[in-house]
Amino acid sequence: MKTLGLIGFPLTHSFSHRYFYEKFERERLYDYNFLNFQLERIEELSDMLKNTPTLIGFSVTIPYKEKVIPFLSEISAEAAEVGAVNAVTVERKTEKIFLKGYNTDVHGFTETLRPLLNENIRSALILGTGGAAKAVNYALKQMGISSFFVTRKTQNISSNTINYSQLNQNFVKNNLLIINATPVGMYPKIDEYPNIPYQYLTENHLLYDLTYNPERSKFLEKGLIKGTRIMNGYQMLKYQAEESWKIFNS
Ligand code: NAP
Repeated sequence: MKTLGLIGFPLTHSFSHRYFYEKFERERLYDYNFLNFQLERIEELSDMLKNTPTLIGFSVTIPYKEKVIPFLSEISAEAAEVGAVNAVTVERKTEKIFLKGYNTDVHGFTETLRPLLNENIRSALILGTGGAAKAVNYALKQMGISSFFVTRKTQNISSNTINYSQLNQNFVKNNLLIINATPVGMYPKIDEYPNIPYQYLTENHLLYDLTYNPERSKFLEKGLIKGTRIMNGYQMLKYQAEESWKIFNS
């Protein structure tokens, strides 16, 4: 038996759990199972590893994408640069457990954005400054697209970061790609949306929402009204899960 898993807190509705069980069924992978590990503290990781000897890899979600890093024996160059890990392989060498961390959000975002790009999209606004925003920023850099983070913070913000209050017509006009990398608008708070000046959006804009529940967030709806193209986070989630699967079995 080979076990895959997910760590996070809380783990109420896990996409990964359903996704991998459906995959095991569909592809007749009867020697795999998938467990959710709801850890109240990241320090519980050691006991989880000891108690699950068949574990070959696990995904990492909120709030542990950064907190898991000190527990790793090795980290991929990509994940180190992003500063967040969402997939970890587990290798057992005699008594020692060897953990290596990866960031597959970068792959998921890159592969789903690429078909939507055109030569006019040279610069982007990333709403939020958390782990997902950092993965998006890294992916955009690899694709030659410059970006600004947009934050609620007003102090100690870096040079490529602006506050929502600075988002004027020029910023919106010059950044044809806008990515919501915040949880704003996600179920159950589906009437909320990021505080950007939607009136300046045009049909040349592309709005990408990393959230996927609801399928069409208020953020995306407000873009559609102005004629923008839209994309939600569901395909990204599938691409990152498949990439994690490849890594767990490598
Ligand atoms: P996070 O660290 O909890 O939050 C991201 C950032 O959002 C925060 O740093 C904060 O930035 C901003 N934010 C949080 N609450 C806000 C609010 N009420 N109003 C405005 N801004 C707020 O989360 P994350 O891990 O980066 O994930 C962000 C979102 O992406 C989540 O909804 C997650 O489910 C989704 N996601 C999707 C995929 C996918 O495959 N589709 C992958 C990863 C993540 P400031 O404090 O700087 O404003």
